[in-house]
Amino acid sequence: MQKTRQFGISVIEGDGIGPDVVQAAVAVLDALQARFGGFALRYEPVIAGARYYRETGLEIESGAFERLAGSDAILLGAIGLPDVRRPDGTEISPHLEVRDRFGLYAGVRPAKAYPNAPRRLLDERAAGIDLVVLRESTEGLFFTQGRGEISGDAEARETLRITRPTSEKLFDFAFRLARRRKARGGRGLVTCVDKANVFRAFAFFRKIFDERRAAFADIDAGYAYVDAMALDLIRHPWDFDVLVTENMFGDILSDLTAALVGGMGIASCGEIGDAHALFQPAHGSAPDIVGQDRANPLATILSAGLMLDYLGERHDEPLMLEAAQLLDRVVTDGFAERDFLPVEFGGRDGTRAVTRAIVARIARY
Ligand code: ATP
Repeated sequence: MQKTRQFGISVIEGDGIGPDVVQAAVAVLDALQARFGGFALRYEPVIAGARYYRETGLEIESGAFERLAGSDAILLGAIGLPDVRRPDGTEISPHLEVRDRFGLYAGVRPAKAYPNAPRRLLDERAAGIDLVVLRESTEGLFFTQGRGEISGDAEARETLRITRPTSEKLFDFAFRLARRRKARGGRGLVTCVDKANVFRAFAFFRKIFDERRAAFADIDAGYAYVDAMALDLIRHPWDFDVLVTENMFGDILSDLTAALVGGMGIASCGEIGDAHALFQPAHGSAPDIVGQDRANPLATILSAGLMLDYLGERHDEPLMLEAAQLLDRVVTDGFAERDFLPVEFGGRDGTRAVTRAIVARIARY
């Protein structure tokens, strides 16, 4: 008999709509486990966030980092509430510490046009948008976070940092991702997005990109300055596949690409390092819609799909890879056959209705 492989998943529901969208994703993961068998996810709750901070003065449970480190993946809802701040005025952000501690350098942010989801561009070809922004997530301009200097109320400075080891890993990740996407019909193209015409750090970034591309002759490599990319992502986003870029550029461009295919409620995200990975929607805790069953759960559900894909690849579990692909088909067909249209997209379906429709469809396939 086939052995069922167990995976420990740390689950941080967090604040605002976080618990609702995480529960939606867990319901979908359960449906996929039931449909496929062969793998079992053991959920381990970890409490963290702004509400927890308000109640206890702690941003995350004590001992949590050890537990997170011991799990196979982390699934997170959203962290932060506008009225809860640290004494210095900054936001509660234990998830950023997770990113740093675990070296989660590869920020995977897909943007894919689903049928009948809002299309922001008039051109028919926008139906073919299917790209990933790969945002380096541990250095770049964000390296400077908490380290900036203001001298004499007259001048402020922040430092951008690009390192060879991280850039090499990032580019290899980008090319491998493009290769996997190509095997499933993707364009097989990695575009390096930088500002190499102005900054030495980005010329260095591009030089390393050129070195690494040599090992991936089956994948095309392109270049774009970030300003030109902002233009091209509106003019012809359907021509791109994997965009690999620095932290701040990726932060900005991935919001733009999320908007192209609907909005933040469909923007999934994987943050992947050498030994750990965290999956969460790209949106925040949306306190303005909390408790109304209006949150679009798709971003978190699709992030859970990225998690299955990550675990399947890492642990060589074909059934998990299949489950991830089935989930994408279910979401595509669900949109195409008007099973659901989230409130966020002008439809009538709340968090629970969208989740129910997806779970029901998984059982039918
Ligand atoms: P953060 O800085 O943590 O990313 P934010 O304050 O910039 O958060 P969000 O919490 O993402 O922003 O909310 C921005 C807007 O998008 C809000 O109006 C919110 O209601 C809406 N929004 C965010 N996520 C969703 C979702 N899943 N479904 C529907 N609307 C959402």
